[in-house]
Amino acid sequence: MRQHCGTCVLEIKQLSVQFHVNQTQLTVIRNLSLSIPDNTVMGLVGESGSGKSVTALSVLGLLPPNGHIESGKIIWNGTEIQGFSDADYRTIRGRDIGLVFQNPLASLNPVFSIQDHFVEMLRLHFGHTRTQAIQEAEYWLDRVGIPDAHKRLRDYPHQFSLGMCQRIMIALTLAMKPKLLIADEPTASLDVTIQVQILELLQDLRAELGMSVLLISHDLGVIAQQCDRVAVMYLGELVEWAPAETLFSNPKHPYTQALLASIPIPDPKAPKPQRLSGELPSLYKRPAGCAFHTRCPQAMPVCKTSRPDLHSAVNHAVGCFLYPKEPANQ
Ligand code: SF4
Repeated sequence: MRQHCGTCVLEIKQLSVQFHVNQTQLTVIRNLSLSIPDNTVMGLVGESGSGKSVTALSVLGLLPPNGHIESGKIIWNGTEIQGFSDADYRTIRGRDIGLVFQNPLASLNPVFSIQDHFVEMLRLHFGHTRTQAIQEAEYWLDRVGIPDAHKRLRDYPHQFSLGMCQRIMIALTLAMKPKLLIADEPTASLDVTIQVQILELLQDLRAELGMSVLLISHDLGVIAQQCDRVAVMYLGELVEWAPAETLFSNPKHPYTQALLASIPIPDPKAPKPQRLSGELPSLYKRPAGCAFHTRCPQAMPVCKTSRPDLHSAVNHAVGCFLYPKEPANQ
């Protein structure tokens, strides 16, 4: 990806994030660069603990008290935001950058009716009157497929199923008409049928509203269906990036290849899924050299001592010594 992106809503440049844990500074994100162009769905994949969610929290100014941005830049619509105060972040979080997390119940206030959630958000961000906000709430609940939206406005979160609560969260988020939606495992807690419905809904509304999406998931099937571009993370580093079609048809990094080989294919003639061997190393004991060398079937002596940079051919970047060095364009 390019160093400078004139049409990107979000650019992350050489971001490093540390957490203070047990009197140790752990580097959780290392030197990560990622750009999200307008009107694009960017998928961010990797195993649990690869740093996907911390990347999102860094963008949103929501790192926990023991975490901080050690270096790098986060550029939102041309403005550096990594040093923003909480008050500054509140002007863009929710309004310009919408959030949908895995557990909608954690984001909905149990003592607020659904319409109260809309009234509070729309008053705060747009100065809507109560009547305007309730009209907007009804419109959005209807759009996300809540039956009898008008009647259900006065209901409380516990009166809805988990899938319906996730739809309500999406409705609340989209009512803000964000330029970027960050969806962190938005369907992970839902059963498969509801997952498909929610993802189709997100895809339809995204196209209609012309927003960009950062979709975080460990599920490569979801990423393949939904994303225009895909970035792969391993132990806090970006190891490969490409348009989705390219990444799935021609994965280069051995980690991406292993992730793809682990997806079960519903065809008796297809090769059996291969489980990625070994465990993700602890951040306390980050391997020297290439972080993946302890699990890589193609590791070479150099991989144990030197760290590969992310190099790119046209529109496809990979951080691995198996590929010749070319100047990175992200
Ligand atoms: Fe494997 Fe070496 Fe490439 Fe790392 S740099 S992915 S260890 S071949």
